[in-house]
Amino acid sequence: MSTPSPSEVALIIPLYNEEAVLPHLVAEIEAFRSERNESIDIIFIDDGSTDLSARLVQSLTGDLKGYQMIRFSRNFGHQKAVSAGINLCKNKAAIILDADLQDPLDVAGRMIDKWKEGYDVVYGVRNKREDVSVIQRITAYWFYRLFRAVGEVDTPVDAGDFRLISRPVIEAFNELDEQQPYVRGLISWLGFRQTGIQYARPGRVAGQTKYPLKKRFHLALDGLTSFSSRPLRTAVSLGLLISAGSVLGLVWVVLTKYVLGTAITGWASLIFAAFFFGGLQLFFLGVVGMYVARVYDEVKGRPRYIISDVWDSGSIQVGSVLDESTAQEA
Ligand code: UDP
Ligand code: MG
Repeated sequence: MSTPSPSEVALIIPLYNEEAVLPHLVAEIEAFRSERNESIDIIFIDDGSTDLSARLVQSLTGDLKGYQMIRFSRNFGHQKAVSAGINLCKNKAAIILDADLQDPLDVAGRMIDKWKEGYDVVYGVRNKREDVSVIQRITAYWFYRLFRAVGEVDTPVDAGDFRLISRPVIEAFNELDEQQPYVRGLISWLGFRQTGIQYARPGRVAGQTKYPLKKRFHLALDGLTSFSSRPLRTAVSLGLLISAGSVLGLVWVVLTKYVLGTAITGWASLIFAAFFFGGLQLFFLGVVGMYVARVYDEVKGRPRYIISDVWDSGSIQVGSVLDESTAQEA
C-alpha cells in the first residue's frame, strides 16, 4: 500500500453493504485509538458493496489519519476479504474484526495486551451470544465441536475470525495460497503461541447479517473439506460395511430358500432399503465431488480476489495502480 510508515497495530475490517454501521464503527474506532498508547491503522476491505459503504468510508475518514480502504472488483466473500487485509498489512500485529461492532474494541485492547505479553495469536472465544437465533446458536455450537472432532488441526471451539495475529503469523499466512481460505482454521494450523480471551458477543449495532444461511453452510463445508479427509474415509468404511452386510444378507436369503424351504415375504420393504442406499451413495458421491471441486479450484490457479481501487485517508486515489508486490499477492 502507499502508506509509508505503518503503525504498530492494524485493524482489518471487511465491509459488505455496511453503510448502516459505519458511523458507529468509525466513532468507536476513534475513541479506541485515543484510549490506547499504540499507534493503530485501519484497513477496510470493501467486498464489492453495492450500497454507499465505500463513499461513506471516504467521507467519514477522509480527514482522519491512518485509514486505508481496498475495494474488491466484486463480492468475493468475507474469508477472501480478511485474507486480502492480512496480505496487505505491513504492521507488527493485526486484529481481524467485524464491521458491525460484534467484536468489541475493548476486547481488541485486551488482545493487544496479550500480544505484548508474548503471544502470537490471541483469539476471541464467544462464551455468551446475544447476536443470533436459537437455531443458529445450536448449529454453530455443534459445528465447532464437529470441526474439532474431525478436523486435522487443533482449533479452539466457539472462536470465529475475531483475533489478533503477530507479524510472524502474518508472514506465515502470506505463504499460504489456498483458493478457498478458511481463515480461522489456517491460523490454527500455523501454530505459534496461541491463547484465547473469553467474551460475550453482542448483537449487531445496526443493519442485517451479511451471512445468510447459504453462505454460512458454504463456510462450514469449506472448513470441513479443507481440514479433514474424514468424510472421504467415512465413505470408504461405510461402503465396505454395507457391502459386507449385503453379502451376509445374500447368504441368509439362499439359506432360507433352499435349506429351510421357506419363501421370504415383505419385498416391499426392500424398495425402501434400495432408496436408502441409493440416497447414501448419492450423498457420498457428493462428498467426493466437493473434494474434486476444491482440487479443480486449486488447479485453475486464479487469483483469489481482484482489487479495483486503493484509497488512503488524506489522499484520494480511487482507481490507483497497485504496486507490483500487491498485485502479485492479489
Ligand atoms: N462480509 C464481507 N463479505 C461478505 C459477507 C460479509 O466482507 O460477503 C463482512 C461483513 O460486512 C462483516 C463481516 O464480514 O463485517 C461479518 O459479517 P456479518 O457480521 O454479517 O456476519 P455475522 O456476524 O452475522 O456472522
Ligand atoms: Mg457480524
